Amino acid sequence: MATPKNKVIITCAVTGSIHTPSMSPHLPITAEQIANAAVGAAEEGAAIIHLHARNPKTGEPDQSPELFRPFLQSIRAQCDAVLNITTGGSQTMSISDRLRPALEFKPELASLNMGTMNFGLYPMLGRYKDLGGWEREYLEGSRSGFFRNTLADIERILADCRDAGTRFEVECYDIGHLYTLAHFVERKLIEPPFFVQSVFGILGGIGGHREDVLHMRRTADRLFGDQYVWSVLGAGALQMPVATQSALMGGNVRVGLEDSLWLSRGRLAESNAQQVRAVRTTLESLGLEIASPAEARDTLRLKGSDQTHI
Ligand SMILES: [Zn+2]
Repeated sequence: MATPKNKVIITCAVTGSIHTPSMSPHLPITAEQIANAAVGAAEEGAAIIHLHARNPKTGEPDQSPELFRPFLQSIRAQCDAVLNITTGGSQTMSISDRLRPALEFKPELASLNMGTMNFGLYPMLGRYKDLGGWEREYLEGSRSGFFRNTLADIERILADCRDAGTRFEVECYDIGHLYTLAHFVERKLIEPPFFVQSVFGILGGIGGHREDVLHMRRTADRLFGDQYVWSVLGAGALQMPVATQSALMGGNVRVGLEDSLWLSRGRLAESNAQQVRAVRTTLESLGLEIASPAEARDTLRLKGSDQTHI
């Protein structure tokens, strides 16, 4: 793994498409809420903000570029953080729809899931009794549905975004996803440094045991040597333990309400900023420094915010 001068890049994923509004009153839904969440996270030290949009009335994940535009412009006007747009959207969307915001706004970074997978959200049905409207159906749908990114889909996303100079947060939910990335590296369809976001604890992907984190790291080291920059995210209660393990191993971290609604056991995070502050406190107590957006751009060789269409 390439070491970014002992500075840790914090990514904050402020809303995502996993959680639904009834689960937490603090989940950002509207453009104003998403923008405020992002700016607050950046002020606490997040160098990268990973973004999804939602229908402002229902909170349902929505990939319409028109819903992204207001918060992208608002965040850009208020802070220098790197803006990272999802191409994952949610598992109910078509590939073409999922790609629209990244193609329109040509961000510095876009997420890219490295495979088709089961993505089980339905266990949350047992934990939240008061889900309404679309929420219950959405979570239940993940029992028989799946997230689609075939090899052809990945090749298409790589090709379409590369023309815009967009680089990738390569999301690897399992060891096989590292090998899929290696395949595209071998075909020279993606350029180093590869920003590998290892995801732990999603039902359908790898778990979050310390051995899982070690195995992911060792495999990435073997496949990519010093050509990649490693980051991790742990789902739910795994968020802080996995981030801390990664930091101790020289990795970078991702937090945010997309990945966990919690600050600690039984205590909801009241904002994304609160989670960034929590992980930052842990990192600084380990003697680590936090990377600025400029340092993250340098490490990941990003094109700069003035080269986007935001
Ligand atoms: Zn996401």
